[in-house]
Amino acid sequence: MKKNLIPVLSGKLKTGDRVKVIAGKDNGKKGKILQVFADRNRASVEGINLAIKYLKPRKQGEKGQKIEFPAPINMSNLMLLCPRCNKAVRIRSKFLDTAGKKAKKVRICGKCKELID
Ligand SMILES: [Zn+2]
Repeated sequence: MKKNLIPVLSGKLKTGDRVKVIAGKDNGKKGKILQVFADRNRASVEGINLAIKYLKPRKQGEKGQKIEFPAPINMSNLMLLCPRCNKAVRIRSKFLDTAGKKAKKVRICGKCKELID
């Protein structure tokens, strides 16, 4: 296989990843990551952990608005849905040795070991 890979590190979730929720009220649901809040170790996921926000009317006589939005969820409650094997997996990452150039960090699936990106 890919013999030029160096030791395995743990990988991170990114915006656009398809994930599965593994704890809490949305346990088992799937969705796409809309935004990652790395400093808080949280991410908002399409259709997951929905909360309601009320917007006050801006003008008198106008109605206030009710907006449903996905509140950020702790990333430890999320697992990546591997685009290769389609299972909920742990992400690993490795550095690809690119022949003298700066090593490139890539993410790989913890199950099927395929390159994710
Ligand atoms: Zn996989």
